[in-house]
Amino acid sequence: MEYNIAVLGGDGIGPEVTAQARRVLEAVGAAYDHRFTFREGLVGGIAIDTEGTALPDATMELCRASDAVLFGAVGGPKWDDPTAEVRPEQGLLALRKGLGLFANLRPVKLEPALIEASTIKADVLRGTDMFVLRELTGGIYFGERGRRDEGRTAFDTMIYTVPEIERVVRMACELARGRRKHVTSVDKANVLETSRLWRETATRVAREYPDVQVEHLLVDACAMHLIRRPASFDVIVTENMFGDILTDEASMLAGSMGMLPSASLAEGSMGLYEPIHGSAPDIAGQGIANPIGAILSAALLLRHSLKLEAEAQAVEQAVQNMLAEGYRTRDIAEPSAETVSTDVMGTLIAERLRA
Ligand code: NAD
Repeated sequence: MEYNIAVLGGDGIGPEVTAQARRVLEAVGAAYDHRFTFREGLVGGIAIDTEGTALPDATMELCRASDAVLFGAVGGPKWDDPTAEVRPEQGLLALRKGLGLFANLRPVKLEPALIEASTIKADVLRGTDMFVLRELTGGIYFGERGRRDEGRTAFDTMIYTVPEIERVVRMACELARGRRKHVTSVDKANVLETSRLWRETATRVAREYPDVQVEHLLVDACAMHLIRRPASFDVIVTENMFGDILTDEASMLAGSMGMLPSASLAEGSMGLYEPIHGSAPDIAGQGIANPIGAILSAALLLRHSLKLEAEAQAVEQAVQNMLAEGYRTRDIAEPSAETVSTDVMGTLIAERLRA
C-alpha cells in the first residue's frame, strides 16, 4: 500500500527525533512492502521566522492531503514572550482545529527494563498499562474569558455540549473494547455543572457498550489513585483541563519524558502523532535526545491512522528489545553508564525492523 505522511519537525529537538521516527517508518515500509511518501512542512518558531506565522497555509494543505501527521515539538527561548501576538504553540492549536483533532490519547505503559528509573515504587507500578484520553477542543481553554473591574477581576468559562462529550466517551469505549474493557470517566460532578452533564452523557453512552464497564471518578480522587494504584486503570477519559493535568501526572509514572508517545485523533482515520515532550532547547543540536517517544508515536500512527496493527507491534517490540539489550540514551541511563546518540538509537531500532 501507499501512504502519504506529513512530517512537521518544528523546533529544538523536534526535527532530530522525528528524523528517527521517519527512519523507523522507512524500515517498516521495506520490511512489510508499504510505500511511505514523506513530505516536510514548517510549523512553530521556525515557521514564524521564515513565514511570519506559526502555521503557514502550505503546511495546513500538506496535512489535509496526507494520511497522517508526524509532529515533533514547537517553541523555544527565542519565541518565549507570552504576550507576543504570534507564538509557536498557535501552530499546534491551529492544526488541532483545522484537522478536527478532538481527542488526545496518551498510552502510559511501563517499560519493564526501566521500572527502577521511576520515582514510584516498583511494587506499585508493576502492571501499569493505561490509556488516558483527553477531550481536546472544548472546555475552559476555549470558553469566553476576560477581565472586568478595571482588570481586577478575571474569568474563564467552561462550556461543554452533549455531542462533544458523546464522541470522546464513545472513543474511550471503543478503545477499551480492544483492551481490558474498563473505562474510568473523570469529572468534578459534585461541583461543576459541565461535569454533571459529562457524567449524565457518559452514563448514557455507556449503555451502548454493555461489554464495557464504565465507572465514574472525581478528578481529585483520580489524581490520588493514579499514584496509589496505577495498574488498576485501563482507559481514563476526561475533559480538556483535567486531562491536561492528569496526562502529565500519568506520564511521569513511566519515567522519562523522552519515552512517551501521543496521538491526537479526529473522526475517521486522520491523526497527529507526537512525543509528549517539548522542544528541549537545553539539549537541542547535541545529538543526545531520546527518540523513543517519537518512534513510539510512529507506531501509534501505524495503528490508528493506517490500521497496520502488526507493523505497530513490530515497532513497539523493536523498542522493547533495544531497551532489554541495555541500549540507553543519556536521559534514561544510570549516571556512569555508556549511552548511545539519538541517531544510533534510531538506526538500531530501524535495523532490527529490517532484519
Ligand atoms: P521539554 O519537554 O522540552 O523538556 C523538559 C526536560 O526534559 C528538559 O530537561 C529536556 O532536556 C528533557 N527532555 C525532553 N524531551 C527529551 C528527550 N526526547 N530526550 C531527552 N531529554 C528530554 O519541556 P520544557 O523545557 O518545559 O519546554 C521547552 C519548550 O518546548 C518550550 O518552548 C515549550 O513551550 C515547548 N513545548 C512544546 C510542546 C509541543 O510542541 N507539543 C510540548 C511541551 C513544551
